[in-house]
Amino acid sequence: MIPLDEARTLVLSRCEPLPVEDADIRDMAGRPLAADVVSVEDVPPFDNSAVDGFAVQSADVAAPPVELDVVATVAAGATSPVAVARGQAVRIMTGAPIPAGADAVVMVEDSQPVAGGRVRLTAPAQPGGAIREAGSDVRAGDTVFRAGTVVGAAAIGVLASINVRSVPARRRARVAVLATGDELVVDGSPLAPGQIRESNLTMLRQLLADAGCAVEDLGVVRDDEALLEDVLRGAARRCDAIVTSGGVSMGDFDVVKAVLSRIADMQWMQVAIKPAKPFAFGTLDGGSGRRVPVFGLPGNPVSSVVSFEMFARPALRRMMGHERDLLRPVVRAVLDAPVRRKPDGKLHLVRVHGSFGPDGRLHVRDTGPQGSHQLASTAVANGLALVPDGAGLAAGDDVEVLLLD
Ligand code: AMP
Ligand code: MG
Repeated sequence: MIPLDEARTLVLSRCEPLPVEDADIRDMAGRPLAADVVSVEDVPPFDNSAVDGFAVQSADVAAPPVELDVVATVAAGATSPVAVARGQAVRIMTGAPIPAGADAVVMVEDSQPVAGGRVRLTAPAQPGGAIREAGSDVRAGDTVFRAGTVVGAAAIGVLASINVRSVPARRRARVAVLATGDELVVDGSPLAPGQIRESNLTMLRQLLADAGCAVEDLGVVRDDEALLEDVLRGAARRCDAIVTSGGVSMGDFDVVKAVLSRIADMQWMQVAIKPAKPFAFGTLDGGSGRRVPVFGLPGNPVSSVVSFEMFARPALRRMMGHERDLLRPVVRAVLDAPVRRKPDGKLHLVRVHGSFGPDGRLHVRDTGPQGSHQLASTAVANGLALVPDGAGLAAGDDVEVLLLD
């Protein structure tokens, strides 16, 4: 058996970052920037009012209450037709440019209308008060984001605010995914004896989409070597990576193993983890000298998702330009229930659900039966407890937990 870290390092070393493209900022959520972003504009672009109120000369409102002549009104998007002179005020809306002459705004809540087009201001104004200065959010010339920054919704907003419509980013990985197994039923028809419902492909599509990949669903491929070879070779020509489910262990009809052994440079691993011990990784010729990574995930549904999490997701993230946080966060938590296990040389990845307790710590307990076919207890887990080889852990023990969400 090969230790998890060693297997992962091997996989990562063979999954190179994809080419950089010019990506629309609206398609950037969750993706890292491939270059620094420098602003060429100030945000805000001009001094403007932080409140609805009255633009004034602060010297006029040093000792309120005072009454001033209201000489104009300026809305957001407009400019004041007049400057503010001593004894005058301009009614101003949030976001409107500060009129010439004014150096402060008094908010409308601190004012009362007075007959004859005048206003009484009841709170003092300081120079600069309630004014948002040009460039106070972002200044032209600032490096707003460094290469490697993972873009979120607010970053997309910042990019829009500085008129950056597209940014350099590694391409999203286009990933072909297929399942194998003649027992699998996908179309909702009644189950004949020996048949089961397909679930991995449906799940892996979603895992890939969640990881930010573009998915090419190749469906269930029958356990037929010639057919599978055709499908895999085609996928390698069109895609950046291939994910297969099933057929990588020791069974007689493990056709994925038979075909990939022949056409790709695969490594058939027995990883020292439970579940997801069998795992295959290699590369397939994609034409023009391209080597396309192939992730051969085990068929047992829980092994399939765990194997995806341990190997495929970090590798695909690396391909899409992530440098930090290839792996999900691992935190220390408290076990609220014992975890029983026997020494077997493997790290056990135990499905757990965790929530924060009044002590401020993450408390976890297992979500039920841990068989590699028992997907239901995986569906309600929000973490995998990393239970080291040995005799298990007791309630109250510390445990490392990989956070799944
Ligand atoms: P295999 O890795 O092909 O030997 O499959 C291991 C176990 O996982 C068998 O019980 C299969 O029936 C089951 N299995 C394989 N592929 C799928 C799938 N796509 N959906 C649900 N179960 C599967
Ligand atoms: Mg099979």
